[in-house]
Amino acid sequence: MPRQGVYEKMEMQRLFKSVLRSVIPSAIQRLYPPRCLMCGRPGRDGADLCEHCHQQLPFNQTACAHCALPLPPNTDADAVCGRCQKKPPHYDQAFSAFSYQQPVIWLIHQLKFNGKLVHARLLGELLAECECVASMSVSESICILPVPLFRKRQRRRGFNQTIELARALSKKTGWPMELNRAVRVRETSAQTGLDAKARRKNIRGAFAVVETLAHKHVVLIDDVVTTGSTVNELSRVLKKAGVEKITVLSLARAPLNR
Ligand SMILES: [Zn+2]
Ligand SMILES: [Zn+2]
Repeated sequence: MPRQGVYEKMEMQRLFKSVLRSVIPSAIQRLYPPRCLMCGRPGRDGADLCEHCHQQLPFNQTACAHCALPLPPNTDADAVCGRCQKKPPHYDQAFSAFSYQQPVIWLIHQLKFNGKLVHARLLGELLAECECVASMSVSESICILPVPLFRKRQRRRGFNQTIELARALSKKTGWPMELNRAVRVRETSAQTGLDAKARRKNIRGAFAVVETLAHKHVVLIDDVVTTGSTVNELSRVLKKAGVEKITVLSLARAPLNR
C-alpha cells in the first residue's frame, strides 16, 4: 500500500519534529539553566527571575479600575479615581502590573536604554501573570497591539520595547499580535517633563489606523503609563475605526513628576 506508506512517513516526520522541538529547549535549559537577572540565583519556573526577587517586586495592588492609577491600600477593588469619574478615558479598562519603583525601574531601563532584550522576555512574562490576563475570556476575539513608535525613531533605537514585551505576552497567552494596523504618523517630542494638558496636546493626531482590525477586543501594550494621554489618544483613534473594547496593559503606572 504505497499511499499508506507516504502517510506513515509523514506521521513519523511530524513525530520526529515535535520530539526535537520539545527535547532541544529542555536540553538547552539543562545546559544553561535560567538565572535571575537581578541576583544570579536559579530562576523560578524557567524564568529569568528567582522566587526571592519575585517577591520583592512592587506589585500594583490597589488601583483605579478604569485607568490603573494607584489608590490608597484598602480601597474597594472596583473603585474609580476622581479623574475617571469626571472624564472617563477612551479605553475601557487599564491594568499596570507594578507601581513605578525599583527594581522595576531598573528592569525597564535596561531594556529601553541598554537594549537588553532578555529583560523584555521576563517583563512580558510577568505581564502575562497579571490577574486581568487570566480574567479575559479566551473565547473573546482578542489581539495584542503594542503602542507603535514613529518608524524613524524605531530604526534609530533598533527595536520597539513595547513590541518585545508583547512578543513574550503573545507567546504565553496565544493572543495574536497586530503590528501594522495602527501607525505613528508623526514624531512627537518626549512626554517627560510635560504636564497632563501639554501631554494631551503633544500626542494629539500622532496615530492613524491604516487597516481595520479583525478583532473586537484590543489589548494595548505600553511599558510605562504616566497620565495615560498616549494610550488614550491611540484608543480614541482605534474606537473611531470600529474597535469595540480596549484594555490597556502596562508594566508600570508612574507619577507625573518622575
Ligand atoms: Zn534573584
Ligand atoms: Zn482612573
